[in-house]
Amino acid sequence: MADRIRTRFAPSPTGYMHVGNLHTALFAWLTARHHGGDFILRIEDTDEVRSTPEALDVIYQGLRWIGLEWDEGPDVGGPHGPYVQSERLDVYHDYLSKLLEAGMAYECYATPEELEQMREVQKARGLPPKYDGMCAHLTDEQRQAYRDEGRRPCIRFRVRETGKTVVNDLIQGEVTYENALIGDPVIVKTSGYPTFHFAVVIDDFLMDVSHVIRGVEHLPNTQIHMQLQEVLGFETPLYAHLPIVLGEDKTKLSKRHGAVSVTDYADQGYLPEAIFNFLALMGWSPGDEDEIISREDIVRRFSLDACSKSPAVFDLGKAEWINGEYVKQSDPDRILELVLPRIQNAGLFEEDASAERLAWLRRVIVLMQERAKLLTVFESWARYFFTDDYEYEERARSKWLGKPETAETLQALTARMASLEAWDADSLESAVRGLAEELGVKAGNVIHPCRAAVTGTTVGPSLFHLLEVLPQETVVHRLTRATQLVAEGKLAPAEGDAS
Ligand code: GLU
Repeated sequence: MADRIRTRFAPSPTGYMHVGNLHTALFAWLTARHHGGDFILRIEDTDEVRSTPEALDVIYQGLRWIGLEWDEGPDVGGPHGPYVQSERLDVYHDYLSKLLEAGMAYECYATPEELEQMREVQKARGLPPKYDGMCAHLTDEQRQAYRDEGRRPCIRFRVRETGKTVVNDLIQGEVTYENALIGDPVIVKTSGYPTFHFAVVIDDFLMDVSHVIRGVEHLPNTQIHMQLQEVLGFETPLYAHLPIVLGEDKTKLSKRHGAVSVTDYADQGYLPEAIFNFLALMGWSPGDEDEIISREDIVRRFSLDACSKSPAVFDLGKAEWINGEYVKQSDPDRILELVLPRIQNAGLFEEDASAERLAWLRRVIVLMQERAKLLTVFESWARYFFTDDYEYEERARSKWLGKPETAETLQALTARMASLEAWDADSLESAVRGLAEELGVKAGNVIHPCRAAVTGTTVGPSLFHLLEVLPQETVVHRLTRATQLVAEGKLAPAEGDAS
């Protein structure tokens, strides 16, 4: 085995790469980085029917976005290439010849119908389904007869019929499998492509992988891999099978839980470092209560020993909270860079913004950083910074804007705002509080309707700082508009709204 710690991420470019795959990649990467070892990217595209270039793109984008750089891989090369399995077919065929010569592999001519029938018979007898060895001992004549029928063989590996295979897993512990329960697996398909079992074993050996870190769904496959290693004379690498990732309702993670393709996280307003932090805490514990841990600290503190085998739960609320913490501590200029194209795409900000407008946008961002969990807030509920075209939310209506008496307050406030000479948070605050006193109401009875009218919401950053950022004429215009709508009863809550 390699002296160095070498791990790999070996995705199949079939379907979309979701957060569970990224989680696996992260843990393999962390193991390598923690030990100063190597991290390899290997593309397992031996499913020639389902592999697509689009899925491959998503893999690259996802890994790059979250910052899991690889030391060896298809694009960067390395001493053990090629790193794409479809470019390694000769390698697998060399090993196949060895197995065939040793009688450890054989041609199987069973048709899909025959295999199906095999399963039916086993089911009827109450037996677990497995390949029954129908071609395990064919004579040359029998093989020829099948070929004459036009059948083309796949190749199966002869697994042990008795005894046990014991996997000593770094996370799952010792797991024992009865060899009699598995049938001989296909290692080379009729198409000549190897199956996952065969390619993975050969590549992990040739690429000097020290730790195979992958999802627990591959644990039962490990018995086959270990038997192959034994026959091929390969040393068995260390195995660490990561727990399954479940949705909050404890069912297998799916799109339903917001576990979308990894590239969607950027679209959904997440920062890569937040997803990095969030995923690291799924199944790994730093040993204390820390939840916001920098990338460097995670690398320093990470250990497979501190990984749990119980299912990790994907808690979207927690992901959002962590993201909010990272947004808070980010440099406003960086947030600006990420937010600008978003609000431009949404038609909320001009494409050719002047330096002055960008400086203004930066003020908005500083004001919102405390409470912007996701960068999407600038396009959604905080769009009032950029446009008069915002919704009056139900809560704003039911608490304030739906009540006719609010019109009077808003009217007085409009006049006060229109005549204000200094437009800064302090002056705005004294004006609003002064007005409340004059009206003989609590300050909140002016502050809340004001926010509701000017932003359409009941929550947000300090009202006076918010008003300060908006131009005076915008505020006056919005107050005038709301006064009218309230007086006409047009902002009454939707019928049946209980809030
Ligand atoms: N290609 C396999 C998959 O995407 C991973 C195999 C492995 O990590 O050993 O599930």
